[in-house]
Amino acid sequence: MCSHHHGSSSVDYPTTNHGPGAKWIKHLTKDRLSTFNGGHFSDVNLASVLFVHRLDDANHVSLQVWSAPGLEKPSFEEAMKQKFRPAKKGESFGPSWVRSDTNHWWKVSVKIPAYWEQYERVQFEFDPGCEAMIYTTDGVPLQGITGGFGGDRRVEYIIPRELVKAGKHEFVIESSCNGMFGVPWNGDTIAPPDMNRFFQLASADLVVPRADAWALLWDFQTLRELVDTLPGNTALQNRALSVANEIMNVFDNTDLASIPRARKLAETVFGEAWESKGEGIYKDGAERPQIWGIGHCHIDTAWLWPYRVTQQKVARSWSTQVDLMERYPEHRFTCSQAQQYKWLEQLYPPLFERVKAKILKGQFHPVGGSWVENDSNMPSGEALARQFIFGQRYFESRFGKRCETAWLPDSFGLTGALPQLIRLADMKYFFTQKLSWNNINVFPHSTFNWVGIDGTQVLCHMTPVDTYTAQATVGDVNKGTTNHKNLESSDISLLVFGNGDGGGGPLAKMLENLRRIRAVSNNSRELPPVSMGQSVEDFFDTITKESEAGKKLPNWSGELYLEFHRGTYTSHGSIKKGNRKSEILLRDVEHLATLASLYKFHSGDYNYPNDTINDCWEKVLLNQFHDVLPGSAIGMVYADAEKLYAEVRKDAEELIEEAYSALLPKSVRASTKVPIVTSDFRLVGYNTTPFPRRDVVEFPAHNGTVHMVLECPEGSNVSLPSTTLTEDLDRGAFASINEAGDLVFQSPVVRMTISEGRISSLVDLELDRELIPAGQTGGLVIFDDRPNYWDAWDVEVHHLETPHPLHFTNYSVKSNGCVATVLAEVKYGQSTIKVKISLDSIAATLKKDSRPLIRFDATVDWHERHKFLKFEIPLNIHNDVATYETQFGHVQRPTHKNTTWDMAKFEVCGHKYADLSEFGYGVALLSESKYGFSCRGNVLRISLLRAATAPDAEQDQGMHEFSWAIKPHKGHFLESDVPQAAYIFNSPLHLRYVGEDDHAPLLETKTPFSVEGASNVFLETVKRGLDDDFDSHENSAYVSVVLRLYEAFGGHAQAKLNIGGHIPFRKVLLTNLLEDEIEELDVHKDESSSFVKLKLHGFEVKTVKIIVGRAFSSDAESEGASSRRSSWVTVEKP
Ligand SMILES: [Zn+2]
Repeated sequence: MCSHHHGSSSVDYPTTNHGPGAKWIKHLTKDRLSTFNGGHFSDVNLASVLFVHRLDDANHVSLQVWSAPGLEKPSFEEAMKQKFRPAKKGESFGPSWVRSDTNHWWKVSVKIPAYWEQYERVQFEFDPGCEAMIYTTDGVPLQGITGGFGGDRRVEYIIPRELVKAGKHEFVIESSCNGMFGVPWNGDTIAPPDMNRFFQLASADLVVPRADAWALLWDFQTLRELVDTLPGNTALQNRALSVANEIMNVFDNTDLASIPRARKLAETVFGEAWESKGEGIYKDGAERPQIWGIGHCHIDTAWLWPYRVTQQKVARSWSTQVDLMERYPEHRFTCSQAQQYKWLEQLYPPLFERVKAKILKGQFHPVGGSWVENDSNMPSGEALARQFIFGQRYFESRFGKRCETAWLPDSFGLTGALPQLIRLADMKYFFTQKLSWNNINVFPHSTFNWVGIDGTQVLCHMTPVDTYTAQATVGDVNKGTTNHKNLESSDISLLVFGNGDGGGGPLAKMLENLRRIRAVSNNSRELPPVSMGQSVEDFFDTITKESEAGKKLPNWSGELYLEFHRGTYTSHGSIKKGNRKSEILLRDVEHLATLASLYKFHSGDYNYPNDTINDCWEKVLLNQFHDVLPGSAIGMVYADAEKLYAEVRKDAEELIEEAYSALLPKSVRASTKVPIVTSDFRLVGYNTTPFPRRDVVEFPAHNGTVHMVLECPEGSNVSLPSTTLTEDLDRGAFASINEAGDLVFQSPVVRMTISEGRISSLVDLELDRELIPAGQTGGLVIFDDRPNYWDAWDVEVHHLETPHPLHFTNYSVKSNGCVATVLAEVKYGQSTIKVKISLDSIAATLKKDSRPLIRFDATVDWHERHKFLKFEIPLNIHNDVATYETQFGHVQRPTHKNTTWDMAKFEVCGHKYADLSEFGYGVALLSESKYGFSCRGNVLRISLLRAATAPDAEQDQGMHEFSWAIKPHKGHFLESDVPQAAYIFNSPLHLRYVGEDDHAPLLETKTPFSVEGASNVFLETVKRGLDDDFDSHENSAYVSVVLRLYEAFGGHAQAKLNIGGHIPFRKVLLTNLLEDEIEELDVHKDESSSFVKLKLHGFEVKTVKIIVGRAFSSDAESEGASSRRSSWVTVEKP
């Protein structure tokens, strides 16, 4: 025995060597791997052995089809009643979405040869080239099918074991003529749909797959990903490459025994007998996972397809996932959007029950807590609140559980109002990734505390994988670490995988790949360990714990502005207008219906129309989906959306009439389109805003127009005509054309001059201050608008280099006195813009020193392509920031380009106002249906119309009506009445005629709910409680009123919330958005009312719930027995 030999397995090193040596050319070996499956060598490589048998003859596969006419989408039951005809492989179906034949129903009957019983698996392979779904013959959806040869291909249906034994099987398929991404032209995703596309049935085969060949395919795929993803100088990368190469040498398609030999080689990388561990592979190796895998399927609720197609996508995608969970126990799947669950419940009840069972078992996870994955730039504060209220209540009512994580991975920027609303909706976590699309700056964090405009924080994870449709590759898993922006604070990441946008979700091959990737990391430290089987909440709970409740994490303060898709604040004017008008209409409906349900002056049988109000809200919330409201969907989607808005408008107007018939019986709506009626009637205005106001109302008259001034004093909601004011103001505002041809508007306070068609001067006469800098002019302006790719989505910064100022022409002075009104015209290209410019003689609000509005009402016949219309006003005002309204508050953005972060905000979202102020003075632009603004230097702009041609070739072509206003104000924005004026600008008075002799107690009743002592606190919403008894008139019925208030300027406030003496109540609670009690408030009393004291900090939102019933004192007990009253509120004497 030689002493220098160590160990027992020493290898003799030969003395001589006559071979060539083993050195490889690495890149040639690497390239070789692409020839292992399919392609040019498919007759001899792995592809040649993937199937044992394939049958498609009529003896084994019998097909019958019925094509639903036109766009019809019949239910399973309806379809089964139709007359089917024989069909065969190779037939074409279509065209998509027009004229005929969108949905096709198939009755399939297969005969399975008896000897196939020996095989592990028998499949039916159905490839219609488009999307499809498999049903049982009694209508239970089993799984989705995605035809074609994309990465989302899923064409196999596994025939259950017992049916293989039985030798025959019948089932039903519905195929639909659209792909995963609708029907785009030439495969360009965002091109308008190809309405004339046909799809061919490429496969309807009974097959036996060769199980070990498929497993080898997946082994090889994982090895290739290791080779392609890891750095070339690592041991693992080189081992994966040499093993893959060796597998290619060993595999022989004429010797099937080579397959298990090849698979054995893969164990060099995956570990010995790794496969026998099944899902147990995740229990081996590292105890602490770094990459948390969760299956997901992003289904855009409408985008390149309409809502009705989405309903099918939901059923296809989710049935597939339920099926996968049966085969892969580690599989967890998370999905958001209560609306999609509700569609499933309504349209596919048997599948809904299957999904529900998986939810209750903890495998299928509802997430997000919102009605849809909404746009978060444009919905109002109250609408965002409703997204969560409707979402959380749906999830709780159906599955007994609320969500803890808000989920908006794909919304085009995230408002700084969200953290507070998320917390108030009983959630604390937030997931997104969209800022990875920024086209200027790289967002610096992955896991951070997101602090909103009011100081509330949520724990936010922006996955470093940079996608919510990860393919579960080695690259995805690795990116979870290598692209993590703050590993020093937290080193775990969420891997959200599965096909998406058009639905689909994880494929079996992704789950197979993840098992292999985990097996690799159990044997090597070069890959971070991936885990499966937990929830998104588990992931966030772990971060909370590991970061010491966020203390170790960085903060991001304010909005998550997306540096991309800036055109979406303007694209599709109709959807923007529908959204704003519907939000305000529903606020008015709830306000009036609440009062009507409390007062019941004359009609004791009035019930709060809760169901109709909820239906209306659901439609408005649906249209706020993140490709609908932004204007980035195909034309069909807007036809559907406009129909929903029309329904909302019709229902809301009826509800308002019903409420008035209880509140102001016998009153009728006053139209400003017909001459004013004076005999036997009084004109009154109902003011749904929380602000006192003065309005000039215009009626046609035989010699022009007549104006009336209506005034609503503090503490009232009723505006009454003021004859003295009307007479006074007749001497107020005048428009004239001077000798130079300039158009001059003048009131005692303001003078505006339009010279050569441009606003050349705007003077605050009281301060003798010129607001337009010398040499600059304001007016309409048009820009070339050709973004680099995403047409409807993007306006790119270079559009600002091509301004074409437009000129007002053809002035005609229409009225003077109370209001100075001039009609003007602008022509550009094929388009005509008619603008009514008016200067009121009265101030915009009743605030002391308030200045009047200069109002622009435009009617545009728009026929441009790739142009952007804006209105601009240069101001003699200097500030580094401008102020824009956002949900429940405002946001400031830079007016300069100091850094790339500043210059990126060249087009931004605002709601009812945008303002540029300095010490002493400011000017705002008000909007009633537009959301795009900018302030570059001293030029304030409002964006009016775009004209993209993809994905809607006809975007915004045709007629538009919209308004905006210039609002000068003395004092900085923070001391101004801009938010109030903008609110009033958006909420016209409800004008009504009331009979002279009619008893109308509402007119003499003080406003029941009002805020006192804090002009910065706005009462936004008056509605009934979520859990009220709406139909019961019993005294025991639960009746409550819910008020939502917010601080609008960004500072502290101490407010008195008054509750009118005529409203009996038991108690007053502070609640969250879901109306869970936070605390009971002390009630104070003074001579005419009760009140509670509220303390708010800047931009804080508070929800107050008043439990109505006989006063909270000793009457409470006796009241239960009382049957004296037929309504909750008896207004004896207001
Ligand atoms: Zn999306």
